[in-house]
Amino acid sequence: MEQGKRWLAWIDGQEVAPAESRFFKVEEPATGTVLAEVAQCGPNDVKKAIAAARRSFEEGRWSQQSATARGKVLLRLAQSIRDNVDMLAQWETRQVGKPIRDSRDEVLTAADCFEYYAGAANKLYGHTIPVSAAGFDYTLRVPVGVVGLIVPWNFPFLITAWKVAPALAAGNSVIVKPASYTPLTALVLGRLGTEVGLPDGVLNIVPGPGRETGEALAADPGVDKVAFTGETTTGSRILQLAAPNITRVSLELGGKSPTIVFDGVDLDHVAYLAAQSAYANSGQDCCARSRIMVQQSIYEKFVEHYVKHVQQLSIGDPLNPENAMGPLVSASHRNRVAGYVERGLAEGAELVLDPRSKEVPAQGFYLAPAIFAQARSDMSIVREEIFGPVTTVQAFDSEQEAITMANDTTYGLSGSVFTRDVGQALRVANQVRAGVMSVNTIRSVHLEAPFGGFKQSGMGRELGMEALEMYTEVKNVFISME
Ligand code: NAD
Repeated sequence: MEQGKRWLAWIDGQEVAPAESRFFKVEEPATGTVLAEVAQCGPNDVKKAIAAARRSFEEGRWSQQSATARGKVLLRLAQSIRDNVDMLAQWETRQVGKPIRDSRDEVLTAADCFEYYAGAANKLYGHTIPVSAAGFDYTLRVPVGVVGLIVPWNFPFLITAWKVAPALAAGNSVIVKPASYTPLTALVLGRLGTEVGLPDGVLNIVPGPGRETGEALAADPGVDKVAFTGETTTGSRILQLAAPNITRVSLELGGKSPTIVFDGVDLDHVAYLAAQSAYANSGQDCCARSRIMVQQSIYEKFVEHYVKHVQQLSIGDPLNPENAMGPLVSASHRNRVAGYVERGLAEGAELVLDPRSKEVPAQGFYLAPAIFAQARSDMSIVREEIFGPVTTVQAFDSEQEAITMANDTTYGLSGSVFTRDVGQALRVANQVRAGVMSVNTIRSVHLEAPFGGFKQSGMGRELGMEALEMYTEVKNVFISME
């Protein structure tokens, strides 16, 4: 895609200008200047995309293909993503503001994701069931049909891949609604899909605001399933929109994940990992371990090491591969996050790393890291998802207190526990109410394993064979022998 060109929607295998000729501006967070003008799809454009997806689904050139044949196309798409990694990573960094090394890793992981589901497509089995009637009973996994995929701005390309790859592998036709801040790389994916042989109408991309484009998609009776990633409040709204049509819904929502640190671990190493987890992508990560909980006996020492490692994170131009942190996604988001620093102070927490102590570029939406010590579970900085470079450190005495503290939240996405005691690791991992727990690591995501939240962090799972199943319906067939 060329700089300066207007970006159109991708519908039915081609670029499509919006019916009402409206375009919205995408800003570059590192500079605050306009990066692109993008088609704003209104309800008529969404209807057009749904009609194209429905037609392609009914014609069966994808849905009725053998799963092996679908897998081969997805393998070609993975290769095309790899071939275009530099271009995709540049656009990703420029639209999100994330460090270029992270963008490259994410684009390559998206290619891995397409490869995983290319191989998984023909391993989606049904069952044979010994029913009591005379005959043969079996189940099939069939595609749900037309699927709306609504994607957030923090990992735009990767999360698009997490949804598109299993949905297509299962034989669905899809419509992607990217976030308004970050629609560019999803639009590139639409074009690459057509180039590698996806039939027209199977992969459509409709940019536009959530309130208009997203709602039109989620509320349309022509959509059989909506898979959404974003804020918990938006997820709740999607459920309401889908309810009248009994549209299937899966939700990946917010988080406020803990890192729990017990006495006896290598403090400096764990503090380093905690810093990496909490401040990667400038803290704009649903799995960011933004609540650090440390055993009282090592609390002071840990805070010292943690502050040191966070201070060492270099912040600046995300296109410079030396930088570990870029700007936040928008001016309004930066102001919202900065507001939590004021709230933390007003609530009486101790600001042990003040964002004003570090110089950041004057242009762009930068905010340096903040750390609050002596935080309590009733403070808003501990309870609410800040989604930026602000973390809290709390102290606990016993294992049971750590578990209670970790579970004192409406969220339940992920968490880490660091301990040298295997029994303790197992007890804590089992008792923290979260969909993904990591022991002695901050890593939460494996393409081959299910990922998703308990409580208000969502319902359903991404990744692994679980995601493939979630894009199917179970059909039961009985053949009488009489
Ligand atoms: P958001 O909810 O504001 O937006 C997500 C998407 O929904 C965007 O495409 C947006 O345009 C669309 N949208 C907004 N309002 C809508 C509406 N009324 N109807 C239909 N669509 C609508 O979230 P965001 O700010 O883009 O992303 C950040 C949030 O996403 C955080 O809460 C984060 O924790 C969460 N997240 C969760 C996961 C996960 O896997 N659990 C992963 C990444 C991000």
